[in-house]
Amino acid sequence: ATGETDRSIAAAEAYSAHNYHPLPVVVASAQGAWMTDVEGRRYLDMLAGYSALNFGHGNPRLIAAAKAQLDRVTLTSRAFHHDRFADFCQALAELCGMEMVLPMNTGAEAVETAVKTARKWGYRVKGVPDGRAKIIVAADNFHGRTTTIISFSTDPEARADYGPYTPGFEIVPYGDLAALRAAVDEDTVAVLIEPIQGEAGVLVPPPGYLAGVRAVTRERGVLFIADEIQSGLGRTGRTFACEHEDVVPDMYVLGKALGGGVVPVSAVVSSREVLGVFRPGEHGSTFGGNPLACAVGLEVIAMLRTGEYQDRAAELGAHLHAELGLLTAGGAVAAVRGRGLWAGVDVAPALGTGRQISERLLARGVLVKDTHGSTIRLAPPLVISKDDLDWSLAQLREVLAA
Ligand code: PLP
Repeated sequence: ATGETDRSIAAAEAYSAHNYHPLPVVVASAQGAWMTDVEGRRYLDMLAGYSALNFGHGNPRLIAAAKAQLDRVTLTSRAFHHDRFADFCQALAELCGMEMVLPMNTGAEAVETAVKTARKWGYRVKGVPDGRAKIIVAADNFHGRTTTIISFSTDPEARADYGPYTPGFEIVPYGDLAALRAAVDEDTVAVLIEPIQGEAGVLVPPPGYLAGVRAVTRERGVLFIADEIQSGLGRTGRTFACEHEDVVPDMYVLGKALGGGVVPVSAVVSSREVLGVFRPGEHGSTFGGNPLACAVGLEVIAMLRTGEYQDRAAELGAHLHAELGLLTAGGAVAAVRGRGLWAGVDVAPALGTGRQISERLLARGVLVKDTHGSTIRLAPPLVISKDDLDWSLAQLREVLAA
């Protein structure tokens, strides 16, 4: 018997490009940390849209903010001002302890904006000769999918067959301060890194690395750009992952949770010296900073200002990592990395690939996603209850014991 799940997956296979390999579940609705599929089965969401759903599915405050704005105005383009824009930019700048915001939509667009900003700053402010600006990035990075961004990816899957590639980037090993220091020259305008590398498997750099990056960039007059698209906005137990090392970068790149899983909202947040380089017409986006995005983003910022989501991520995260530590001691797990409600779990390869583990968890009602090899990633909505988190860990234990 072909159910709705099979029919839906077959149609997706037939009519959509195969640039993803989703788990075989077709979601029809969701609330909080739980999703329900087209057959009425329930699943605990332990991925949270790669951290876009930090506040859970259908968060009442975010849905109310979106609904109220839907009835007023949803898009003006930036040809005109609208009455949610200034509030959003001011609130976001204040949340970040910065001065200016440049709103975009997706993460990749915000990273592109950061790259363009850094280059323009390099030419206009730092005085780098035209066409020579260099940006230093880390191996195993993930910053998005545009032609320029994949030009500095080290992942052959992400990069192959998309050349010619954009020049102007130098790749150094992640976590290696000496390599970074050696790569900085007089044409270097920025260092762009993830404070924790998400797609690479939730790689936390060695202690002192972020502080070291801050010191080198400050000494050499280079912008420190922190891509906090996945790590930021509560996930690690702080508003920003950089805070764990008391580091303030020159620029935050934000996305994912900024739109609360309701609408795509991203932004570059920095100083007046840096974002002040733009003049009218030099950059833009039809949807960037639209009224609906700003209304939802404002509510996200208001929720983050209370600190309760960060605290929850810290508390539940400590519990999550303690429990995962026990699995490591038992031998089923080779390594666990992460911070807060965010973990990369390397399963002992003999127990299966990350994909196989994900499929076994799916059969038990837990949704996770594998990354490279035998790694699965856990990043539940920050609103998950402790009981639900414990239940998911029990399922993981049984899958790894089987
Ligand atoms: N930067 C980081 C650190 C990410 O994790 C991602 C997405 O996974 C992106 C950028 C790209 O964001 P988007 O998929 O919204 O373009």
